[in-house]
Amino acid sequence: MKRALQVRVVMFVLALFAAACGALRAEEPPVLTVPVRVHLMQSEQDTAMNTTLTEDDVMRIFTKVNKVWAPAGISFVLESVGVTRMAAAGGAMPRERLLKAGLNVCYVKDMKDNGFWSGQLALVKDTAWLKKVPGGLDEPIPRVTAHELGHALGLEHRQDVTNLMASGTTGFSLNEEEIAKARTGAAKFSAVAKDPAADAAR
Ligand SMILES: [Zn+2]
Repeated sequence: MKRALQVRVVMFVLALFAAACGALRAEEPPVLTVPVRVHLMQSEQDTAMNTTLTEDDVMRIFTKVNKVWAPAGISFVLESVGVTRMAAAGGAMPRERLLKAGLNVCYVKDMKDNGFWSGQLALVKDTAWLKKVPGGLDEPIPRVTAHELGHALGLEHRQDVTNLMASGTTGFSLNEEEIAKARTGAAKFSAVAKDPAADAAR
């Protein structure tokens, strides 16, 4: 084959490949963005609770959380990261600090469980520990955060060891049913997020 023809054939194949990739991309559902307010818990009465995570830690954690949730087409966007002081010893999060048009994650130094979803707030401890499973996430805190956000989006436990909604392991896969359910949960916040006045109005 002459060189010019070879180049044209290669260009044609590349163009076909690009078109195929474009078609694949077009079929993917839109990415749903969910605003998250991160609270770094500090308490004068209960200093053992005080998180030592920094804003840089939170950035690293959420990069990994978004890697876990990318196959579901869900992206968590940090609305803010800041210190939240507990109102009283053993007290609850001050309600006025909660983001209404999105989800709330609070880091604390220590508590009984790695984390839990309270119905309003995902609590995660700095000292989270997980059993490692093959192909699991390399760090417990982002996995626990991603798991609690799964509960926040409506998912329940599924004890299959290597998946996100299993308890106490580093696994992070999601099945089709969980992706569909979580996207329904995320869509509520994604729609709200488009209207900046919505949070102020609540
Ligand atoms: Zn759980």
